[in-house]
Amino acid sequence: STEARIESERTSSVLLLAGGVAHELGNPLNSLTIHLQLVERKLKKLRAAERETESIAQSIQVCRDEVKRLDGIITNFLEAIRPRPPNLGEVRLAELLDEVLTFQHRELADRGIAVEVETEAELPVVMADRDQVKQVFFNLVKNAAEAMQPGGRLKIRSWADDENVHLAFADSGAGIKQDDLTRLFQPYHTTKSGGHGLGLMIVQRILHEHGGQIGIESKEGIGTVVTIHLPRRDRRVRMLKN
Ligand code: ADP
Ligand code: MG
Repeated sequence: STEARIESERTSSVLLLAGGVAHELGNPLNSLTIHLQLVERKLKKLRAAERETESIAQSIQVCRDEVKRLDGIITNFLEAIRPRPPNLGEVRLAELLDEVLTFQHRELADRGIAVEVETEAELPVVMADRDQVKQVFFNLVKNAAEAMQPGGRLKIRSWADDENVHLAFADSGAGIKQDDLTRLFQPYHTTKSGGHGLGLMIVQRILHEHGGQIGIESKEGIGTVVTIHLPRRDRRVRMLKN
């Protein structure tokens, strides 16, 4: 049945996530083990040599950093798997986008990135979870910003047709390699040194839960266009009447 299939897809994506988390936890756990052993050994020698205390302090600092890293991994993981059905309400996407851009203004300015927004005056209302759509906008703007150099341009355009409201985020960033295009939504796929590779997975999941979609087109060295589609509030009603 469809339900069973959806359930098994969910289970396998959770397993994939869990596998990624287990893999990421390996390094900090290893480091914690080694440094705790060092501390233990050095404490035994401490009575003999007073200067060992400095090295013990260093090991304690490493352990602190690793605990912080573990905490970050776990927090991200929980955020990614948390089953939270959308809490639907009427959302004006142009206003929401404004809020997110205001929130990210500082970071965009620091990176030397100009943002241009072009929205249809009468953009239809959508039924959506405000916080989740905010997270979608936030992640897409962040990814665009991270792909660009100072002087980069992010152009956000929105329009509607009979069924959907569409938003396109076009950046003048580095673009995406052909090989990577198929992996964008996989958990833990990242090309960034400090990346978590969960942003687009979360974005896709939120859109699907809203009956929406996402598409990505990219040219290396030219830029990337991420387009999202959300059903209009009145769509379902119209379909039922017909
Ligand atoms: P993260 O940002 O933590 O790496 P994401 O899931 O948000 O994870 O993105 C996954 C990968 O997709 C990024 O590492 C990057 O390689 C690529 N990507 C996403 N958005 C863009 C973009 N606008 N331009 C170029 N590459 C992008
Ligand atoms: Mg990201």
